[in-house]
Amino acid sequence: CGIVGAVSGRNIVPVLVQGLQRLEYRGYDSCGVAVNAHGLQRARTTSRVADLLAHVRDDQIEGSTGIAHTRWATHGAPAVHNAHPHFSHGPGADAETGRPGRVALVHNGIIENHEALRAALQAKGYVFASQTDTEVIVHLIDSHYDGDLFEAVKTSVKQLHGAYAIAAICRNEPQRVVGARAGSPLILGVGQDGGENFLASDAMALAGVTDQIVYLEEGDVVDIQPGKYWIVDRAHKPVTRTVRTVHAHS
Ligand code: GLU
Repeated sequence: CGIVGAVSGRNIVPVLVQGLQRLEYRGYDSCGVAVNAHGLQRARTTSRVADLLAHVRDDQIEGSTGIAHTRWATHGAPAVHNAHPHFSHGPGADAETGRPGRVALVHNGIIENHEALRAALQAKGYVFASQTDTEVIVHLIDSHYDGDLFEAVKTSVKQLHGAYAIAAICRNEPQRVVGARAGSPLILGVGQDGGENFLASDAMALAGVTDQIVYLEEGDVVDIQPGKYWIVDRAHKPVTRTVRTVHAHS
């Protein structure tokens, strides 16, 4: 239902959670946040965003790169294990520690070919922890990952049928968030200071954070890092999109 993502030089969790709060009016059944700080960490709840904030404080979840989500379930019941962000669990999981979680992902929309993708990924050894259509995307990205999250996302989205706006982070690349959209909205927010950059499903999520907004187009894939960003179009050709000043009102 709602997405917020950020790369920054400060603890960005309060901004991510505040972004979710600005999207609450759209309705949701669960919410969550993941950060890239000494490996991936996350908090998820079927309660209000305010309770997510309490979880984040109790578990001391902090980091300068992260993604957050409010979910409106389409596949899989509203439950904590179905809440986003989803982690990859499979051959690409943390081989050293045995812990899962090389890639984390949030998604808005519906993946129509999730059953075929799930069967193919299970055959490769991926273990599913939810009943969502979304979880196929995180394992797919992991399966294509070869040191470059942007490349892995570009390859993965070619295999998706349906509607999506996604944001992904990878444990191995602590200062990067990669997004993509087709059929569901996703915007890029260019930070005002400190080289911060953001992704969101709606400019409203970034009110008070930045008003410099790029509306991504159908099929775009975007890579945000501190102080820089890249966009490629559906043919994976690098493109320049207009930055607009948007005054979002809540
Ligand atoms: N289809 C996904 C799910 O059910 C995403 C729903 C949404 O857009 O919030 O988890």
